[in-house]
Amino acid sequence: MTTIYYEKDGDLGALDGQKVAVVGYGNQGRPWALNLRDSGLAPKVCVRNDETREKALDDGFEVAELEAASQADVACLLIPDDVIPNLPITRPATGLTIVASGYTPAFGRLAVAGDIGMVAPRMLGPEVRNCYTEGTGFISAVGVETDATGTALARTLAIARGIGGLREGAIEMTPRQEAILDLAVEQILSPALTHVNTSFISAMLGQGIPLEAVMAELFLSGEVERNYGMLRSEGFVSQLEHHSPASQYGQLSRRGRYDALDYAPIMSEIVASIASGAFADEWDAEGAAGYPKLKELKQQHAGPGVKTMEDAVRARLGPAVAPANRQDD
Ligand code: NDP
Repeated sequence: MTTIYYEKDGDLGALDGQKVAVVGYGNQGRPWALNLRDSGLAPKVCVRNDETREKALDDGFEVAELEAASQADVACLLIPDDVIPNLPITRPATGLTIVASGYTPAFGRLAVAGDIGMVAPRMLGPEVRNCYTEGTGFISAVGVETDATGTALARTLAIARGIGGLREGAIEMTPRQEAILDLAVEQILSPALTHVNTSFISAMLGQGIPLEAVMAELFLSGEVERNYGMLRSEGFVSQLEHHSPASQYGQLSRRGRYDALDYAPIMSEIVASIASGAFADEWDAEGAAGYPKLKELKQQHAGPGVKTMEDAVRARLGPAVAPANRQDD
């Protein structure tokens, strides 16, 4: 059975007398540093840039260069995954290195001495802070890649507790499992949903339905987002009762209509390239070349043309319609 850790499993005492460094002060770095401090720890923030250093100083942290993290007992590496292998940081044999994503240990890109643990919030950085201050929490993935000292799990759970990551349960996963799942959501689920949405748009435009109305159904109205919220807060069975009987019948009676479409071979092919490390190699090569393909893809799928079209619709519908920028007055 899958192990799920809760607050009672994380003892901050496992870090008594230990120096904690937070490396990076971005999406995750700042919320982690603030949450750890509010949990009673005294993290030092290690950054490279003057502007970021000023921000951390303004927040009242002791700030140091990146290299200073080499002396910390626990170093939380909260910088982009492709940058982590090139950090000017070494780790002591008794140290613990924490990553917020399984990517670098999973694909052989984190060669450091000592313990390696993972605390991966299933939450965007600013929300890691908001959830903590609101007293709620967020689900995390927690795991140990290397236990050189016999204290890796206890110390990893202490960090997880310190950032508020045990309040809603932390699922034990290896960094490899977490990395595969994370990349699969991006590379398998997201493109598949995009494909379904595109087919749906075509079907609706074919019926003469305005694009604006279709976009409202898909995301602009916020209804889908709220339905997913109910799925989370009430579960599928209870939330179904909020839909009309005709809606319930329509959803359930047509449920198997797409079963004949076999997505599995494509999904297996993509997940195999993730699991073998081929994607990580491809991404490294892309980075080394200055991201030419990423730039081209963004131009194609998320370029100025798409933005102009989106902005025009968003200016007339949804949360962007503030009196100040309303175009139809
Ligand atoms: P960010 O892109 O927000 O990281 C920015 C920080 O990284 C800044 O402090 C920046 O420093 C520093 N940085 C960037 N490049 C370098 C470099 N070459 N050398 C030194 N420092 C550098 O990262 P995230 O917070 O988004 O991601 C951090 C980790 O958290 C990753 O492992 C990610 O996978 C994981 N994660 C992220 C989530 C998210 O919500 N974004 C969700 C869950 C996990 P400076 O300001 O000085 O330029």
